[in-house]
Amino acid sequence: MAVSASTDTESWYSRGLSQIYDSLDADSDGLSTEEAESRRSEHGPNRLPKAKPVTVWQIFLRQFKNPLIYILAIAAIVSFAIGEETDAGFIALVLLINALVGGIQEWRAERSSQALQQLVRTRATVIRDGETRDIDGEDVVPGDVVLLESGYRVPADIRLVSTHGLEIDESALTGESAPVLKDEEWAGDDRASLGDRRNMAYAGTVVNRGRGRGIVVETGADTVVGRLAEDVTAVEGGQPPLVTRMERFTRIVGLVVLVAAALTALLGIFVQQYDAVEMFLFAVALAVSAIPEGLPVGITVALGVASRRMAKVGVIVRRLVAVEGLGSCTMIASDKTGTLTANELTVKQVQLPDGSTFEVTGEGYAPEGNILQDGHPPKPDLADELSRLARASVLCNEGHLSRRNDEWTWRGDPTDIALLALGRKLGWSRQSALDAHPQIDEIPFEPEQRYAATFHRTDDETRVFVKGAPERVLEMCADASEGEFSQPALQQQANEMAHNGYRVLVVAEGTVETDGDLGQPPSEPTDLTFLGFLGLIDPLRTGVEEAIASAQQAGITVTMITGDHPETALAIARNLGLAESSDEVTTGAELMDASQEKLEEILEKTLVFARVSPDQKLKIVEAARGMGHYVAVTGDGVNDAPALRQANIGIAMGKMGTDVARDAAELVISDDNFATIVAGIEQGRVAFDNIRKVIFLLISTGAGEVALVLLSLAAGLPLPLVPVQILWLNLVTNGIQDVALAFEPKEGDVLNRPPRSPDERIFNQIMIERTLVAALVIGVIGFGTFVWLLDQGLSEAAVRNHLLLLVVLFQMVNIGNARSETTSLFQLSPFRSPILLTGTITAFLVHLGAMYFPPAQAVLGTAPVALEQWLVLGGIALTIAVAIELHKLSWKARYPPRSETEGQSPSKTHDKEV
Ligand code: ADP
Ligand code: MG
Repeated sequence: MAVSASTDTESWYSRGLSQIYDSLDADSDGLSTEEAESRRSEHGPNRLPKAKPVTVWQIFLRQFKNPLIYILAIAAIVSFAIGEETDAGFIALVLLINALVGGIQEWRAERSSQALQQLVRTRATVIRDGETRDIDGEDVVPGDVVLLESGYRVPADIRLVSTHGLEIDESALTGESAPVLKDEEWAGDDRASLGDRRNMAYAGTVVNRGRGRGIVVETGADTVVGRLAEDVTAVEGGQPPLVTRMERFTRIVGLVVLVAAALTALLGIFVQQYDAVEMFLFAVALAVSAIPEGLPVGITVALGVASRRMAKVGVIVRRLVAVEGLGSCTMIASDKTGTLTANELTVKQVQLPDGSTFEVTGEGYAPEGNILQDGHPPKPDLADELSRLARASVLCNEGHLSRRNDEWTWRGDPTDIALLALGRKLGWSRQSALDAHPQIDEIPFEPEQRYAATFHRTDDETRVFVKGAPERVLEMCADASEGEFSQPALQQQANEMAHNGYRVLVVAEGTVETDGDLGQPPSEPTDLTFLGFLGLIDPLRTGVEEAIASAQQAGITVTMITGDHPETALAIARNLGLAESSDEVTTGAELMDASQEKLEEILEKTLVFARVSPDQKLKIVEAARGMGHYVAVTGDGVNDAPALRQANIGIAMGKMGTDVARDAAELVISDDNFATIVAGIEQGRVAFDNIRKVIFLLISTGAGEVALVLLSLAAGLPLPLVPVQILWLNLVTNGIQDVALAFEPKEGDVLNRPPRSPDERIFNQIMIERTLVAALVIGVIGFGTFVWLLDQGLSEAAVRNHLLLLVVLFQMVNIGNARSETTSLFQLSPFRSPILLTGTITAFLVHLGAMYFPPAQAVLGTAPVALEQWLVLGGIALTIAVAIELHKLSWKARYPPRSETEGQSPSKTHDKEV
C-alpha cells in the first residue's frame, strides 16, 4: 500500500498525532512484517547519504603531493634538460609506478576500513507484529514505532509519542551542545526552529538519558540530516601518528639531503673543478639513495595487515592509531559485567525481610525452575510475600521474555530478563501484571543512579515499584531505625550476600500521593516497603582467567572498574585471579575526595574499583595516565564516552555497547570478551615489530647507498651507481621485499615481554646500531668491490651492472637479517612466511629479468654476468649476514634477555628522536 509522501516534510512537528497516523497509514501498535517489507522496497533502505567516497583518481593524484616526489621530479626535468633523456624518462616512470603502488595500497586500505565499519551497524528497536524487536537501522521504514534508549542513535526522523526523561544530544545537527529535554506534549508553532521542536527526535542525534517511543516520519535521504547530505556518523579518518611521524622524518631527510647534495655539487664544481653534469648526477644519486621512497607504502601495508589480522580475532580498528598504541599498553581498565563475566544473569537466591532464604533452581533465562526453602516449597504465608516480590520484579522491568514456537526468546537488559524469569517461576508474567496494573510513568535505569522505578495505576491509587542497588533503595524505604529490620541490619544482610559473590538487588514498593501529576521527571520515591533481596549470579566468561594471566605476564596491570558492590566485585575478581584481598578494592566514593597524591597511592594498590560512577571512571583514567600508564579502557554506556576518549585506547563493546561508546572508541571488540582485548594486544605488538622490520630493511639499504656514493665522491671515482639504478633498488627490488615483510608472523611469544615504552622511538639504540652496521657493510664492502672491479679493467657500465647485482644480493640476504632483532637468521625457517619467501624470490626474478630484457638493459644498464661473477658476488653479499649475526651476539652479551636479568630493556634511556 502506498504511503503518500508529504510534500511539506518540515511540518511533522506542528501536526496532531492522529493526523500523522493518518498520513502515514499507521498507528501506535507498529507495523506488520509484510507491511514493513513492502514499505522498505518502496522507500529504500534507511541510510544516510554516504560522504562521497574518494575516487581512485583522487587517491592516485594524492601520491604526488609529497616533497620527496617534487625533488625527484625536478631531478627528472634537469636530467631531461641536460640531455639525459633515458634517465629523465625512467625517473618519470618510477614516479608513476610509485604513485600506482601507493595508490593501490591506499585504496585497498580505504576499502577494507569501510568494510570493517560495516561490521558495526546501527541497530534500532521497533515494534513489529506487536512485538519489540531489534533490527538493523537500515530496515526502519516510515510508520514504524521505534523505542529510544540512552546511548543509542536515533535511527530516523521520529515524532515522539511518549517520553520518560528523554534527553537528546542534537549537536550533530544544530551545533548546540546542551542536550534537549524532549516532551511529546510540546506543541509549537510553524516557525519553531529545529532545536525547539521538542516533540521530535531526528536521525543521527543521540539519546543521552531516558527513554522514548515514537513513530518514524521520514527515513534515509528524506530526514533532516539526509537533506543536509552529510553522514554525521562517519568516522573521522585521520592519519595514524606513525605515518605522520614517518612523513615528517622523510621530509627532514629530504631537506637535509637536498642541502647536502647541493653543497657537495657546488663544492665539486667550484673548488674541485669537476664536471657540472657529473656533479649534478652525483647530487641526484645522493638524494635518491637517502630518501626512503618506499617507506610510506611499507608502513601503510603493515598497518593494513595488522588491522585485518585484528579483525580476525574480533577486534575492529576504528582508528589506526590504536594498532600502534596497543603494544605500549601498560594497563587495562576493564568493565566487569559483560566483559569479564558473561552477562547472563540468573536469580539464584531470594531473601525476604525476615531473613528467610530461598534457593532458586534453573539456569539461564528460560523460566524453568523452582523456589525452594531448605529443599521444600515455601510455606503458604511466605508464598504470598514471594508473590508480591515477583510482581514488583516484573512490573519494574524493561525486558521482554516470551515463548515463541516452544522456545524462549528474550531481549533487553540481562538484569531485567533475569527478573522476568524469576517472576515466571513464581507465576507472574509481565503482561498479566501490566493488565492488572497499567503503567503510567517510569524512572528508567541509568547506571549513575543505580535504581529504576515504575508507576502504576491500581484501583484508585498510584503505586510505585522499585528495584536497584541495596544502599540506594534501602534509604528510600520507610525507616525502622532499630531492631531486626533496621537499615543497618538489612545493609549487613545485603553485604553478606554480596560477599558470597551475588549481585544483590533490592525490590520495594510503595504508594505515591499525587493529584494526578507525578512531575516531569517524577521525583525519587520515598517511604517504600522493603520486599526482599535478590541474589543474582553472573557466570565468568570462559577464557578470561587465562587472558588475565597472560596480560599480567605481558607486564600489563589489569584492573576491574564496576558499578557493582565491592564485595560482589571482589568475589568475582578472586575467581578470576585478578585480586586477592579487600586491600585491593577501592570504591568510587573514596576516590572523589582524594588528593592527587592520595589518588596515585590508591592507584598503586587497587585492582578492583567498585561502585564507580562514570565520572569517577574518568577520574581513574586521568590519574592513571598522570602516573605514566598507557591505558586501555573498556566501556559500553553513554556515560563511558568521556573515559573512552580520555583513555589512550578506548575499547567499546560491539554487542552490548551503545552507539555513543562506539563513536568515542578507537577499537570495538566484536564479542565483548576480555580475552579478545588481550589477543588484540598481541597483534598490536606483532604489527609494531613488523613496522620496525620494514623500516630497518629500507633505511639500511638507503644509508648503504649514501655511503657508497660519498666514498666514491671522496675518492674522486666516477658514480658507482647512476640515479636510475638506485631508484630501482629502493623502489622495485626493496619495495617488493618490504611489502612482503609486513606480513611476517609473530616472532616467539610476544606477550612474554614488558610493554614498549610509549615514548620509545622507532630508532632506538638497537635499531640505530643495526642500521649502521648494515649500511657500513653495504657501503664499505660495496665500495671495495667497486674499486676492485674498476681495477680489473672493466668498463664503467659493466662495473655498475655488477655492483647493482651485488646490492640486490645484499638486500636478499639482509631481508633474512631483518626477520628478527634478536634471533639468529639460521634459527628462522624460510618457510615460516610463504609471502616473504615469494616476495624475495619475486624481487630476485624481477632483477634477473631486467638483466636479460633488452629495454630494461637499455634503461638500467644491466647485462647478464658470468657464473663465476655470480659466485663471487654472492659470496661477498653473505658478509652482511655475518656482520649482523655478530651484532646480534654482541647485543645479547650487552643486554641479556629479561628472563635472565629481570632488567628493563635499555631502549628507554638510549632513545633518539626519529
Ligand atoms: P556493572 O559495572 O556491573 O555493569 P552497573 O553500573 O550496570 O554495574 O550497575 C550498578 C548497580 O546498579 C548494580 O550493582 C545494581 O545494583 C544496579 N542495577 C544494575 N542494573 C539494574 C537495572 N536494570 N535495574 C535496577 N538496578 C540495576
Ligand atoms: Mg551494567
